[in-house]
Amino acid sequence: MQNLLHNLNPEQLAAVTLPQQSALILAGAGSGKTRVLTTRIAWLIQTGQVSPAGIMAVTFTNKAAKEMLTRLSAMLPISTRGMWIGTFHGLCNRFLRTHYRDAALPQAFQILDSQDQLSMIKRLLKANNVDDEKYPAKNLQYFINNAKDQGLRANKVEAYDPIERRMVELYELYDQQCQREGVVDFAELLLRSFELLQRNQPLREHYQARFKHILVDEFQDTNDLQYNLLKLLAGHGEQFGGALFAVGDDDQSIYAFRGANVGNMSAFEREFRVENLIKLEQNYRSHGHILDSANQLIANNSKRLGKNLRTDAGHGEPVRIYEASSDLEEAQWLIEEIKSLIADGASRSEIAILYRSNAQSRVIEHALFAAALPYTVYGGQRYFQRAEVKHAIAYLQLMDNPHNDSAFLRVVNFPTRGIGMRSIETLQAAAEQYRISLYAAVPYVSGKSGSSLGSFVKLVEGARFETQQLALPEMVRVVLEASGLLTHYGNEKEGADRIENLEQMVSAATHFVQEEGFGQGAPAHMGPRADAQAGEAILNQDGIEVFDADAPLPTVMSPLSAFLSHASLEAGDAQAQAGQDALQLMTVHSAKGLEFDAVFITGLEEGLFPHESSSRELDGVDEERRLMYVAITRAKKRLYMSFTQQRMLHGQTRYNMKSRFFDELPEPALKWMSPRVQAQWFGNKKNAWDDAKFSSAGSDNKIAQQITQKQTGPGWRIGESVEHAKFGEGVIVNIEGGGGNARAQINFGRAGMKVLDLSVAKLERL
Ligand code: ATP
Ligand code: MG
Repeated sequence: MQNLLHNLNPEQLAAVTLPQQSALILAGAGSGKTRVLTTRIAWLIQTGQVSPAGIMAVTFTNKAAKEMLTRLSAMLPISTRGMWIGTFHGLCNRFLRTHYRDAALPQAFQILDSQDQLSMIKRLLKANNVDDEKYPAKNLQYFINNAKDQGLRANKVEAYDPIERRMVELYELYDQQCQREGVVDFAELLLRSFELLQRNQPLREHYQARFKHILVDEFQDTNDLQYNLLKLLAGHGEQFGGALFAVGDDDQSIYAFRGANVGNMSAFEREFRVENLIKLEQNYRSHGHILDSANQLIANNSKRLGKNLRTDAGHGEPVRIYEASSDLEEAQWLIEEIKSLIADGASRSEIAILYRSNAQSRVIEHALFAAALPYTVYGGQRYFQRAEVKHAIAYLQLMDNPHNDSAFLRVVNFPTRGIGMRSIETLQAAAEQYRISLYAAVPYVSGKSGSSLGSFVKLVEGARFETQQLALPEMVRVVLEASGLLTHYGNEKEGADRIENLEQMVSAATHFVQEEGFGQGAPAHMGPRADAQAGEAILNQDGIEVFDADAPLPTVMSPLSAFLSHASLEAGDAQAQAGQDALQLMTVHSAKGLEFDAVFITGLEEGLFPHESSSRELDGVDEERRLMYVAITRAKKRLYMSFTQQRMLHGQTRYNMKSRFFDELPEPALKWMSPRVQAQWFGNKKNAWDDAKFSSAGSDNKIAQQITQKQTGPGWRIGESVEHAKFGEGVIVNIEGGGGNARAQINFGRAGMKVLDLSVAKLERL
């Protein structure tokens, strides 16, 4: 038997081998929290304290769940397939599939991703003649998701004014519409599970008895609903119940904007009367200079639970900082550094490029592409989000659940088959009148519209009939043909890539059935899967479907349903082929929990990182600082940071001051790679001025202030730091004209961009 414990330090060992009681492991980045959690699962199973079916473990991403399963398989001679390890969404999906009837869902319910959710809300607003200027779809989407994340149905939301009251009504209508279509959004997966467990005592007690150990990684980022769900499952305050083992780091709480509540850590400690609070202070990930930077930065936050990190690794390389003149130059510098890392033997997949905002990746991607460096983008446009792939998925969804209106609308006239807006409107009116799905409403439409809609229905049903006995990959192939998608893109000039993406879906389906353990030839429409037989559903005395707690869990999903869930839930998974040695590009948010030999943090500019939105929120800059802490602590050996004076973002040129975070790092750990950009004496150069005039930054200029008449000597230069009586500190980003007509464009950071007449503005050199 493998000794699981010999690689642990004393605190880690204590945490791994705690008795079956609730515990909180509170520790900084890279201290081995995730490792402790995984090892504890293995140890519990290996020592026979619990069967694999008695464990539930929650991770933050699908990728993390996969990694945990792989590590467990390496540590234990058991099949980890069927273990309840996954994200909240993944696990709730599984729970609802198993108990779909009790949850009042159709067996083939489908998951709406946020894009589909938004288009559904738009349709809803239109159908109800709601003014979308007054009630923007995005606001309503946020309102609904936010309410659900707090566990509130429409009838529980308090509305204080007419606008909110209307939002609540729309929330109610939205939920009814989802129910009619047999679809659930992400937040609904959790809320439905929570409500089912709450109202159904026998079912709740079954799961409470079953999950003797519930382990949660990244606990600091749970929201209220997730915490309440955990409380129910752990049997808090009830007769039965397992132990909740939570690991987290308050300094890495970075999802407040999505309702995460770091207060759950202290609530947990209090409510579960946690006696086992273990802190891990040894960091195993990063070299000294990197760790010092992280520690010193985060010390600027108030309201911390307080913990330290130390490392036995030496100082290592200093943190390299580069100031670029533009985002293009920043990308060039990245390429050079990466090439030299690779020349020194680094593998590409051990190099990460992080950015605060997705929009930053375009320039970097372009440069990497030009330099022929393979890369993978996490959380960007994912494979399953591409238009052609979504079209194919929509056909598959209709075959599984024809009442999914989003899927119906997406492809009813794609490829075009002469079904115009008029026909759709007639159909929508019929569906509205009878309160049924669009698909079900087709027979109520007469005339030419009716017959063309009818032939679409025939196409879907024909494909369903034709594929009845086929395994998933073959089924996908048939659907690509029958839908007309392949022919359509075949006729398109630039369609080759799209066809390739569509064909890749057959491979995706093949991998999926293999990985999920569906029998190779198992018909796509049918469930349950082969290895689930041992746990066939049994009914308890109340007629509730329950399972022998020690049997492997059955999954009632057909291969098709499972594949469609996977397509909707698969969040942040990489675009590139698995196994390819590629550079890793991602936002700082999606880097949580990961580690790399070398990390580049780009775009460290005021307004970008910390993000400008942070200044509007209470605690906003602290949250940005935690995000920066997460970014720094991803690095093992090498850390690079960069910022630019000028950047094009969302089609606008911005002039930037360097991030305040640089002032919060320990100078001895840093190495400034570029001298501050050479002075460009005013009058010499007419650089980006024309650009600037049309940029949004330039639009703040209206309030250019003229204070007193004063002749300024020709000494101002671009890049110089200045102080203005009213706007505070700033940086000159451009100068136009000369002599008495000279005007400077100055970025005052928090006060914004201003254009000042140099002969009148009262500026002081800093
Ligand atoms: P984060 O807060 O970023 O999620 P974490 O606390 O979960 O970090 P891990 O990812 O579990 O930290 O561990 C960080 C690194 O340190 C991993 O590479 C892990 O294998 C290694 N590590 C953890 N504990 C030990 C140990 N006792 N001996 C050697 N290496 C260790
Ligand atoms: Mg971790």
